Amino acid sequence: VKEQGKNNFQFYTPDMNEAVSQKIKLEMGLRKGLERGDFNVHYQPQVDVSFGRIIGVEALIRWNHPDLGNIPPSDFIPIAEETGLIVPIGEWVLYEACRQNKEWQQEGYAPLRVAVNISSRQFQHSNLVEVVQRTLTETGLDPQYLELELTESIIQDSKHAISTMQKLKDMGIHLSIDDFGTGYSSLSYLKLFPIDTLKIDQSFTKNIFSDTKDAALVHTIINMAHSLDLKVIAEGVETGEQLQFLQQTQCNEAQGYFFSRPISAEELSIVFKNELLL
Ligand code: C2E
Ligand code: CA
Ligand code: CA
Ligand code: CA
Repeated sequence: VKEQGKNNFQFYTPDMNEAVSQKIKLEMGLRKGLERGDFNVHYQPQVDVSFGRIIGVEALIRWNHPDLGNIPPSDFIPIAEETGLIVPIGEWVLYEACRQNKEWQQEGYAPLRVAVNISSRQFQHSNLVEVVQRTLTETGLDPQYLELELTESIIQDSKHAISTMQKLKDMGIHLSIDDFGTGYSSLSYLKLFPIDTLKIDQSFTKNIFSDTKDAALVHTIINMAHSLDLKVIAEGVETGEQLQFLQQTQCNEAQGYFFSRPISAEELSIVFKNELLL
């Protein structure tokens, strides 16, 4: 695709035409999908590294299109962000994740934190704080069981970011920085932002064993986070060796295929039941 950044096409070709119409199709599909209820949420366990217990889950959206089947988030989240549809979609995910988490608590499972991804477009949207407040009230979820995953890109407007984050923190919600280490921002924001957790990007976790520099980076991020009183979660943990490294370097939490892929709420209920039986 001959595309240079956002809406900045170099020249027009039949190929281009197709890419644009594909995009328009997806955009219309997203609107319809929201109305029709094509979306659902899967949950991936987050595990305490020292005890191996599930302490939280990350909510990840899934789109089951009636004709096209399952469309991965990497194909539609960018379009949802561009068109602004990420705002209603994100609000829906937030509501559904809080509702589901409350339901699990009412069913008697040990309380967990649910982590919800907030795109920077959604974060910058003026009424995020109200939306979060309303969602917690409507679902009855205690704020301590909600975490919002933010990316470093929100730093672009750091004054607004700090005040929004502070309001969320004052409500009792946890905040984490997703994909930590992949942005190009300076580290000084870490002392300004009221955050709880750094989430080490899976590109670092992946190479802990093949690349000594990645191992050094992971170790350094963990030490730095701890000296700033932040917790660390590593994502993309696929092997026992990776987990062992994270235990040795005192990473707090881990998430990845080694424990579980993202699964439906029903499947996760079965996991919880089995844990209770242990
Ligand atoms: P992310 O927030 O970094 O989520 C982690 C992604 O890594 C998920 O992909 C997850 O399925 C995948 N993953 C988890 N463990 C492993 C592992 O051990 N190995 C590998 N290779 N991958 C693993 P997914 O669900 O396809 O989501 C992709 C991205 O789409 C997310 O990246 C996030 O940026 C975005 N996304 C997903 N759901 C939402 C949502 O509700 N709202 C927003 N704004 N973005 C979302
Ligand atoms: Ca995430
Ligand atoms: Ca991530
Ligand atoms: Ca990512």
